Amino acid sequence: MPPDTIPAALARLVPAMQARAAALDAEEAFPEQDFQALHELGVLKAPLPTSQGGQGAGTEPGGMDLILRILTTLGQGNLAVGRLFEAHVNALKLITAYGTPAQVGHAAAEVRDGHLFGLWVTDPPGQTLQLSDGSLNGSKGPCSGAGHVARALVTVDTAAGSRMAVVAVDRSIFIEPKRGALQGMRAAVNGVAHFRGTPLPEDALIGGPGDYLREPLLSTGAWRTIAVTLGGLDALVWATRDQLARRGHQAAPLQQDRFGRMLIAQETARLWTAAAAERAEASKAPVADQVAYVNLARIAVETACLDAMRLAQRALGLTAFLRPNPVERLLRDLAVYLRQPAPDSVLTEAAYHAFSA
Ligand SMILES: Cc1cc2nc3c(=O)[nH]c(=O)nc-3n(C[C@H](O)[C@H](O)[C@H](O)COP(=O)(O)OP(=O)(O)OC[C@H]3O[C@@H](n4cnc5c(N)ncnc54)[C@H](O)[C@@H]3O)c2cc1C
Repeated sequence: MPPDTIPAALARLVPAMQARAAALDAEEAFPEQDFQALHELGVLKAPLPTSQGGQGAGTEPGGMDLILRILTTLGQGNLAVGRLFEAHVNALKLITAYGTPAQVGHAAAEVRDGHLFGLWVTDPPGQTLQLSDGSLNGSKGPCSGAGHVARALVTVDTAAGSRMAVVAVDRSIFIEPKRGALQGMRAAVNGVAHFRGTPLPEDALIGGPGDYLREPLLSTGAWRTIAVTLGGLDALVWATRDQLARRGHQAAPLQQDRFGRMLIAQETARLWTAAAAERAEASKAPVADQVAYVNLARIAVETACLDAMRLAQRALGLTAFLRPNPVERLLRDLAVYLRQPAPDSVLTEAAYHAFSA
């Protein structure tokens, strides 16, 4: 499908995604139908480099607009789908940046076949994933798409330091589901992956020691998460508008005040997200400037979302907390998805950077 038709096709998918989201949330079920549709529309392979049959969405500067629109639209449809897809893009971005041509070609072939990639880099408290004598032992978690993604890019401790590796998620990996544990983002299907002597071929290692922590990719990739979040914020704003209108509150001054502030929060998030995408994907600015900008964007969008959530709760009252109101789920999903790593240091380091600029 040509690049300009993917956003339009995805936009048409949004109502169906939103309609399915409630049941997926209730059942903590992986969004199979949504990902089948994404495969059929060519969205799964859109992040591949153009040389590999993709559209460079998230992996080439020319694909910036497309990946921004894909991530935001998926967030509008279902934040959990957006989160799973964002991890897929992140994994492919890292493989493309640090993998050998053969590794890139292999991953691309798997994506063209419809495989979804995960990114499992977080260690459960007190645990790590270790590679020794060609075998993996230890755990990763939380892991989105646990039991459903076909491949996962993991970070592993080796004698030489931390390395990235692509693992086939098969029966050799024990998936411990964490059903009922998370308040929101339940359809992202969170779990912990346990490796017990899982063989890891040498050619599964991507890049060299420390590459996962290398800037700018480590920090600037956060722009994709805020793009998905922005989509969730859009859904919240429009759902609140529709519900206020159904109550006939359009002309109530205090409801207008609240909704006007939600629109400001939405536009603030949109402007920061677009600028962060440009810095991360297409800018030649110094690495430290790119990182600081995306870090500020993270906090700006988090703040905008938290403001809008508070306003929606106040505007709609108790019904915002009552199932099956979609606002109830959106508020839970957003609240959980906004919990991204190290928000304090992200803000303070960006502030400190401004003193050295
Ligand atoms: C929906 C969802 C899906 C996820 N899926 C995956 C996945 O598939 N794979 C994966 O690898 N991870 C996944 N994660 C985990 C994610 O990568 C982060 O680990 C997680 O979101 C971190 O959130 P946190 O609030 O625990 O952050 P933390 O970094 O623990 O921050 C919590 C608070 O502590 C403060 N803080 C942090 N460090 C310090 C310190 N040293 N001293 C003082 N204060 C500190 C922070 O500023 C913040 O205020 C997922 C997370 C979510 C929300």
